[in-house]
Amino acid sequence: MAARAAGLHTYSPSLTLLLPFFHRQTGLGTSFFCFNRLSSTARLSSTAKLSAAAVRSQAKRGFSFKEDEVASPADLHFEAPLKIVEYPDPILRAKNKRIDMFDENLKKLVDVMFDLMYKTDGIGLSAPQVGINVQLMVFNPVGEPGEGEEIVLVNPRVNKYSKKMVLFNEGCLSFPRIHADVERPESVKIDARDINGARFTVNLSGLPARVFQHEFDHLQGILFFDRMTEEVLDSIRGDLQALENKYEDKTGLLSPERIETRKRKNVAVGFGKS
Ligand SMILES: [Zn+2]
Repeated sequence: MAARAAGLHTYSPSLTLLLPFFHRQTGLGTSFFCFNRLSSTARLSSTAKLSAAAVRSQAKRGFSFKEDEVASPADLHFEAPLKIVEYPDPILRAKNKRIDMFDENLKKLVDVMFDLMYKTDGIGLSAPQVGINVQLMVFNPVGEPGEGEEIVLVNPRVNKYSKKMVLFNEGCLSFPRIHADVERPESVKIDARDINGARFTVNLSGLPARVFQHEFDHLQGILFFDRMTEEVLDSIRGDLQALENKYEDKTGLLSPERIETRKRKNVAVGFGKS
């Protein structure tokens, strides 16, 4: 997820407790996300009702623990420097494998992802966005090295979404210079493994919940425009087409998806349990 050039957007700090082991670095157990660069102009929208169909469609795209394939060392192999994979590269829609090796290679990958995230002014980054189809995300809502908290989540799952929905202007490193409103639950209860493989559960709300959900979608091959209303989508349609054209020029391949031929209501929305 990308921060806007004008500074980190919207959000009123209603932070829930973050557990000490949630932090990448040790010794930071008492510090919390820093919100002092944020303004509190988040707009609350009406509570959304999840239809059974929406939840089912999400479940189809989502993962169940049992079905997930485990990543092999080859799946996790990478060579620095990594580059951001941009829409409409099919890597962003590919299935992401579960990680069960918490070794030095994984720690190196996390370091490289944080470096790239900061360099590109991001506040969150998922592994598929650097071409590695595994269930890993990193984020730091402050977006500055040495500030805020660096969060690493491996094989995350959502246990619970709040009924309260919030509209927020999102960016995405895989969609350079595109920003648009996306509605998501205000808070989530998740479980995941940390960089050492330890399982934990945590409640997130506000900006951390927002960044988490954006990156969690990446791990399921869902992109932020999949969740935009048709009206909002219309405002960025030309930008998406420009990226599709850029991909075709660069690769000599046809764009694997086109916003123009996307069927209305054909894309998964709703927030089912994973
Ligand atoms: Zn993104």
